[in-house]
Parts: sequence; C-alpha cells; structure tokens
Amino acid sequence: MEDTPVPHPSRTPKALGLAVTAALSLTLAAPPALAAQASDTDPVPALVAGRDTATPRLVTGLAERAEGAPVAAALAHLAAHPERYRIDPGQLTEVATERAADGRRTVRFQQYHGGVPVLGAQYLVHLVGDGADQRVESAGGKYFTGLTAPTTAAVPEAMLRGFALGALTDPRARSGATAEDRGPVVLPGGAGRLTRHFTVRSGADRSDAPPTTREVYVDATVGDIALAHDTRAPSSAGPGPAATAATATAVSGPAATVAAGPGLEPATGTAPDAHGRRVPVNTARLPDGSHQLVDLTRRATITTYDAAGRDLLDFIGGLPADLRPATSPTADFPAATGTDGATDAHLNAGIVYDFYRDRLGREGLDGKGAPIVSLVAMTNDGAPIMNATWDGTMMSYGGGGPTYHSFAVALDIAGHEMTHGVIEHTAGLVNAGQTGAMNEALADYFGNAIEVTARGVAMTDPKAALFGESVCRTGTPESCAGRRLDDRRTTVRDYLGTDLGLDAGGVHLNSTIFSGALWDIRRTLDPLTADRLVYRALTEYLTPLDDFVDGRNAVLAAGRALNLDRARLRSVAAAFDAHGIRAGWESELGVDSRALVRAISTSTPAPAVAGGRWVMGDSTGTGAPALYTGSTTGTGTPVRLSPEDGRRHSRAATDGKAAVWPAVGPDSEGRFGTEVLTRPLDGGPVRGLFASRTEQLGEVRISGGDIAFLAEDQETGRTRILVSRDGAAPVELPLPEGHRPSDLTLRDGLVGWSERWTVDGQPRSAAAVHSLTTGRATARYESSGTINSTLLAGGRLLWVETPAGPAARSAIRSGATDGSAAVDVLPTDSPYAPATATLTASDRTITFQASGSEPAGGWTNAALPKLWQLPITGGTPVRVSCNRGGQVEPAADRDSRVLWLDATTGHTDLVVRERPATSC
Ligand SMILES: [Zn+2]
Repeated sequence: MEDTPVPHPSRTPKALGLAVTAALSLTLAAPPALAAQASDTDPVPALVAGRDTATPRLVTGLAERAEGAPVAAALAHLAAHPERYRIDPGQLTEVATERAADGRRTVRFQQYHGGVPVLGAQYLVHLVGDGADQRVESAGGKYFTGLTAPTTAAVPEAMLRGFALGALTDPRARSGATAEDRGPVVLPGGAGRLTRHFTVRSGADRSDAPPTTREVYVDATVGDIALAHDTRAPSSAGPGPAATAATATAVSGPAATVAAGPGLEPATGTAPDAHGRRVPVNTARLPDGSHQLVDLTRRATITTYDAAGRDLLDFIGGLPADLRPATSPTADFPAATGTDGATDAHLNAGIVYDFYRDRLGREGLDGKGAPIVSLVAMTNDGAPIMNATWDGTMMSYGGGGPTYHSFAVALDIAGHEMTHGVIEHTAGLVNAGQTGAMNEALADYFGNAIEVTARGVAMTDPKAALFGESVCRTGTPESCAGRRLDDRRTTVRDYLGTDLGLDAGGVHLNSTIFSGALWDIRRTLDPLTADRLVYRALTEYLTPLDDFVDGRNAVLAAGRALNLDRARLRSVAAAFDAHGIRAGWESELGVDSRALVRAISTSTPAPAVAGGRWVMGDSTGTGAPALYTGSTTGTGTPVRLSPEDGRRHSRAATDGKAAVWPAVGPDSEGRFGTEVLTRPLDGGPVRGLFASRTEQLGEVRISGGDIAFLAEDQETGRTRILVSRDGAAPVELPLPEGHRPSDLTLRDGLVGWSERWTVDGQPRSAAAVHSLTTGRATARYESSGTINSTLLAGGRLLWVETPAGPAARSAIRSGATDGSAAVDVLPTDSPYAPATATLTASDRTITFQASGSEPAGGWTNAALPKLWQLPITGGTPVRVSCNRGGQVEPAADRDSRVLWLDATTGHTDLVVRERPATSC
C-alpha cells in the first residue's frame, strides 16, 4: 500500500460511466499540430482530432492510391500511415462494407483490444474509383490508442451475472429475471475497462412494472456495474402529452421467426385499413386457400402478425410459438385486421422498404433483404399499449381504442421504428445521452421524410414537420403530434440536462435539437439531396458513441463526399449553427457554480465533504474506480487516495481529516470480498479495519477516532451496525430482531440511523441515536410513516419524515440527541415541503435535494431535481443554485458552502457554491 498520495492524472477525467454523455463528450485538447490543419473558412474540416485517443476522428480530402479488394486496400492504407492514424491494423476486424449507388465503398472496422471488442470503437475507410485507379478519399471514426486494460476477468462468472441482475432497480422485476451473457467488452476511456456484457430481462410477474430489457456492462475486474442502459427506448413515437404517461413496453427476445414456407404462394387480397377503407394488400396463399399478411413481392419477406389483444407477457422471449401471421379464410380480410392495425402495419412496412430501396439503394433494414416483421395489437393487462417500438427484431404497434387508432396507422411512426433497425445495422448509435438523442433524431428525420414523400406533402406545408399527428381519432393534427421537427430548439437554450436515470439521459427529450437541424437542411436543400446526405452520414461516417458535434461533422463530411458545392455545405453548417450544434456548445450554458471536477466517470461518485475537503470516486486512469480528494475551494490538484490494488474504491466518507470507504474485489488470496479501509487525507498509510467475504460492507462513516458501518449478510439480508473506536476491532450495536438499519450517521461519539420493521404487516420506522461513550441508546423517534436520511449535525439529529398514506409531501424534522424534543424544521404544510428529499447539513444550514416529478406537459429543466437550503433552526428554503439541469448528491461543507453533482451541461460535474443563489 502506498504512503504518498499521487497526483490526479487529470482535472478532466475521461471514462465511460454515470452519464454516457460524459463519456461521449470526453474533453481532451486537440494536439496543436492536428488542430492547426483544420481550416476556419472551409465548412468541412479536413482533419478533426480524436478525443481521448491519438487517432484522428476524421481525415478528408485524401486521394491516395490503394490497390486490391476494399478490405485489404483499406487495411494497407491504414498500415502505410502509422504517424497519421496510430492504428494497429491487427486490432481491426471488418464488420461491413457498404457500397453506395455511385460506386463508393465504405469499409467499417471494429477495434479489438487483445481479442476483446471495444464498445463503440469503429473506424471507417472510404474508397472511390476502380482497379488501379482506386483511391482512399477519407477515413475516420473512433479508435482508442491508450487501452491497457486486462483482457481476462478477475471476478467469477456467476458473480458477474449476479451484479448484472442488480441493474434491475425495481426489486419486483428481479424475481425470474434473466441475464443473457453477450461476452467480454472493453469500455473505452483512459486505459479502458474490461467488462462482461449482459442483456438483462425482467421477470414476468403480473405485479411487476412493465417488462424491461437492459444492456448491462459489469466490470470484470472489480464487479461494479460500469454502464447500464435500456436496450431500446420505448414510447419512441407516441403522441402528445395526453399519452406520455402511458405504459412503456419493450418486448425483446430471440429473433422473430417467419412462418413463410414452401407452401406459400404470392397472391393479392383486400383488407380494411384503420379508417375502415378496403384496400388491396399483397398476401401469401396457403394450400388450404386461406391468405396471410405475408408480402413476397420484394427481396425481403414482409410478415405482419396480429396479436388480437393477447397480453404482452405471452411475448416475453419472442413471438409465441402458436402465433401465425394475420390470416383470413378468403382473400378478403375481416374488419378486425383493420382496427387492430395489421393492414396499415403491412402496407407501411412496404412503403418504408420501397423508400429505402428506390431512393437510397438499401434493401431492407440490414441492407441484405432480411425478413421484416411487424406485430400489432398486443395489450398490457387488457389495455392498449400506447406506443410503438423496434425491439431489435421487429416492429410492435400498440394503441387503438376510442381516442386513438392503432399506432400502425402512422407512416412516420413506421418509418421511425424501421429506421431504428437501419441504424442498428449501420452506425449502431448507443441508446443513451446525446448519442441516443441523435439515434431518435435520425429515426424522426427518415420517418418524417418517408411520410411527406409518400403523401406528396411539400416541405413548406405548415403540417410537414408534425410527427405522429395521424394516430388520434379526434383533435387537430397539431394537438395530436408527439413532436414537431420545426420546434426550433437549440442546445444552448433548450438542452435538458439529465443523467441516465431519466429517458436514458434525455434521448427523446433532446432529440428535436438534432432532428430540427436535419429538417432545416431538408427544407433548404432539395429533399432528395438531403435524404442522400443524411443517409450517407448515417451509413458511412457515424459511429456508435458519437455526440451532436460528431453528427454535424459526419453530415458535412458526407456532403463533401456527395460533391455538394461550397454554398450548400455552408447552408448545412448554418443549419447546425442555428440549433447550437457547434464545438464547445456545452461551455456556453450559463452556470452559476464552479466546477471542481468535470465529466465524472463512475456510476457511484457520491461525494463526501467535511472541513474544506472533498472525497469522491472516479475511474480515471487505472480503469478500476478509485477515490480522489481535493479542496472544496478548488485550490491545489486533486490527489488519489485509494491504493491501486485492482479493487473498486468508492462511496467514501470523511470528517475532513481522514477518509474511510469499502474496497470491493479480490483480496490478497484472490477471494472476492469487501474490506473497510481508512487513510488520512494528507497522506500516510492505508489501514484495513475489517474484511468480510460473506457480508456486504457499506455506509461507512468516520468522526475522529470513531468509524461505523453497516454489514449486510448476502444470504439472509440481515444487517448489523458495527463500530470501531480508536482502531479497535469493530463491535456490534444492539438492534431488535427484524429491524433493518440504514442512513447511518456518526458524530462526536454519537451514532444515529433510521430503522424499519413491520408490526402485524404494517411498516414502522424510527430515527435512533446511540452513545458510544455510555454504550446506551439516547434518543428514539418513532413514526407510522417513513423516516429516512438521518443526519447528526449542529448538535441535533435531523431526518426526513414522510407520513403514512397518500400524502404527497415530506417534513424535515429535528430532535435533541437526548431524545427530549422533536420539532419540524420544514413542516409538511410548507409550500416548500418536498415529496421526497435527501439531506446534507453543516452545523448552520440544511441543504436538501427535492426530487422532481414529471409535469403534465412533459419534462423540463425546471422539473429536474434541484437543491434548496435553509437554516438548521428552520426558515424559508432558498435555491442553492440557478443551474437549470439536474442537481443531485448534495454534500454540505462549512456554513452555507455545498458541493453537488450537476448535469446541466450534458456532463456530470462536481460543482460548488459558497452561498445560496436565493432567487432564480
Ligand atoms: Zn425511437
């Protein structure tokens, strides 16, 4: 173990984590030599430096000869210019070669690190000309040059799976949940991080929240969840505010199978559409003379299934084995085929297919004519599902009823969902943060383009920009539309700063910022050129972790590849400018706090603050989460506190002089466990206090020579409170059988906690204080409601108390540590009383985080969690900061100074303010 703190490797940590947007916006200054080559006057930069890598993001304007088949020619080109690219061709594997209608070839490579694929690391080489005339015209993408992470897992396989299942936050979803092993993956950023990728599906319990599917990356060295996001964003194309609270559903599973077989003959029939009009449909005739909605007229078979109201739980794991495509005994389909949405889904799939084939030269979602499957009229507990989804194998359309048609009625929604399939087979944009918002934006762009093209709507038509406007039975198109692409939103004015906990980091909430720019381009250029431009950017320039500015550069590079003249390239650049999509936009957001650490990279940073010092987890440099400490005034350089021993060090506490924390990972004998460690903030030895292989150790606290923590038995769930004084072996505090402690707090010889138990099935809770000096309980405040966030500060015990029953608001209360009196600091009837809150406090002020709830009109920055401060003796709370985005994990220092994690800029930063902003 080390005695001297080592300097923090960077003030701007770089790795994947809490907000993928943080990882997507890795800020590393471009090497001057590279930056100098970019021209200020040319709308398309000739060279864009990579971030967090020595490999350039984009090189254009080349004309270098390259002989041989495309893959070999591209690899030879990269190998011939090691100084330019810094790429080891031996780490690349071709994933696809795209051939454009003009003969141009794009070879897409995946980067591997020691045989393990690197998430989002794809590099593309563009070839033009033939034979001896073949030339590399440009190249770009993401290739990470700094990877040194191990390539074999240290955590046992079964344990990795257990951690993955822990990503299901709703405990009801845990029973019967499955974790499908997708193999090892290295997350980029710094040295990289070896993970095991699982697709986690929740169990099928009727009491559950709707089934969810999450992609979970578990750190294979220390067993932490390194990254988790929903597999696909549901309700991606729902109508307006009226339906946004409706159930979101994602059905996922093995690839949908198609019943089309040798006995099927291409045929035609008629079917009623959702409006009751009988229209011609392509069908397949079975030997018994019946017809199915199977269209055999294209390279890809288009099949449409009608769930006819079957419950979504039947579809977990894929289409039920007994479900056949929509069938009619004659060539004329019955009325339900129309009202369920099957006819429209079937027709729209064909229209979308033809658009991609005829306009852009693409055969279906995968470009190779793979079968196209739609499902309609699945229900949730008897109610229509108010959304449409692409689940990785098929489209599913819900809706229907007195107010809405089936969502299949909307061609723009069908185009949106099917474009998600195209994106999955091309740029593979990850569904999170700015990248996910760009994924949604591209789906909206093509969904809208397909509809206005097929319906002959001019781009100047006032309704041309409406999205999903045709699903309502009543009301105007404007009131029905879920989004409009001409809403003029910009990054600087409108970007919604949220972490991954809400809408996967704002993938729908921020999408029209980018789709608005693309829509403007479609209005300015002619629509065909714009469609080819955006399609070329999607298939030939974008890579899975790109952010908005990468997207801008991709579209401009595609414009150059399409030989757009300079004036048109300038108009494309102007469209992005108008939506605030330009390098460095995040820094233009007005913030009133000072950043101490930018772009935090771990999912559990949980800052601890006392006596002018902060301690926080971060995963810069080593790959495994480490702890750093710095000054709350921002002076000096943060230093690493935790040893570099391959374990996860996070969730620390400090009293301003020393820190204490749990280290998780293999111990010196290679066995997995947790150890409580402590170390003085100004250096000195790291000391192990207590270790366990069967109990999870957490909520560690420190005050002078005292250390307290919780120990939870992983088998029984029983939780003990352990306390050590002056380095002695920890002793267990008495706790009634069946009582579960949490929210541990420690100060000046007193330990406090909140406690939960049940009496005759009724939940009870209490706030308790125990004196380490006398060895006795000194205070106990019971409640029939819920007590949490207990905190010893200013000589009092503070807590948040939520009354039993449907009451919407919580009180902040305070009690003497001798148990004599409890008073309201902020009563439930105060207009400032929060629904739920977490507390932090100095000896003079209380700061609380009031969790937001979604307003009727949808999420706004104002509704995201914000911090409030009031005197510890009570008073009117005032805003700590007027920053517009999400503010979480507050940690009080002295007086009114408070630190917190702020997501306003699209990164997650540790920030500070000395005193509250009062009014915003
Ligand atoms: Zn979508």
